[in-house]
Amino acid sequence: MRVGIGYDIHRLAPGRRLVLGGVEIESPVGLEGHSDGDVLLHAVMDAILGAAALEDIGHHFPPSDVRFRDASSLLLLAEVISLVATHGMAVSNVDTVVVAESPVLAPHMPAMRARVAEALRVPPDRVSIKATTNERVGPEGRREAISAHAVVLLEPAR
Ligand code: MG
Repeated sequence: MRVGIGYDIHRLAPGRRLVLGGVEIESPVGLEGHSDGDVLLHAVMDAILGAAALEDIGHHFPPSDVRFRDASSLLLLAEVISLVATHGMAVSNVDTVVVAESPVLAPHMPAMRARVAEALRVPPDRVSIKATTNERVGPEGRREAISAHAVVLLEPAR
């Protein structure tokens, strides 16, 4: 078994889509970023790469590479899963926290869990997505950004 940690933060801006866990959420502001800015999936990817000791997301998907402009982070996550599979590893489970003052994410959780689980090639009961506000302090609390934390356990691939 191998454990990994991931963290990411993206700024919120008008005129951007808000995509979290591969699910587009209706919102007047969305996440800036070279790809779709899916801060949750970026944290998950870094946790997986960290558990496998395979560098980080910036190493595999550099912002300088035009292939990843507005790319769906679900596709990048699928690439990460394929990479760790070639190293004989698979995801056992993932636990995450999204820090966002708004919107309320609870109604979107089932869809997000299903989407992330599919990309990770695990059942949804192996994926935990929790949400918290930042009590109106800090960049997340001022609605300037959304951040995410992730912990992943990798096991030998079957
Ligand atoms: Mg990112």
